[in-house]
Amino acid sequence: MSTRWKARATSHVERACPRARETVSDSTLHVIPTDPQVAPSVPEETRALAFLRSRFAHVDCQRFDDPVFVDAGQSFDRVYCPSCGAELELDWWARQMDAAHEGAFTDLSVRVPCCGNDSSLNDLRYEMPQGFARFTLSIREPGRDLAAAELRELEQLLGLALRVVWART
Ligand SMILES: [Zn+2]
Repeated sequence: MSTRWKARATSHVERACPRARETVSDSTLHVIPTDPQVAPSVPEETRALAFLRSRFAHVDCQRFDDPVFVDAGQSFDRVYCPSCGAELELDWWARQMDAAHEGAFTDLSVRVPCCGNDSSLNDLRYEMPQGFARFTLSIREPGRDLAAAELRELEQLLGLALRVVWART
């Protein structure tokens, strides 16, 4: 499997969480828009940060010119077709990631080999969930999951539909 985009994804997590490797069981909870191209306004971002920082100790956010791959780390195990549910070969997936990485992840479209449907690398069903984003909210060592009500509140504050990515290293 190619390591070029993987290296970029890992360095992204390390930049966001510089002390993420102090112990072997570290984890970071990323909250990203479901749409990989969008980012909130600065006032929306400020409100979302204040909301999370009132609940968690280590909260940060980042913006990117082009989408970055926000990966689940060691929790990523399998990937499935969102149309027919077939499990996809990781080698096929890695080749699509290589191709998309060539274009700085600006074009994430793929045609899945199982049923031939058009999809997106962002919309494949990952176990555990991961995705692409130009904006990330990151909670290092949150100690718990984000409650459903907290996620809904964040979506309202940011005006965006959100996805949670647990990154475990
Ligand atoms: Zn399929």
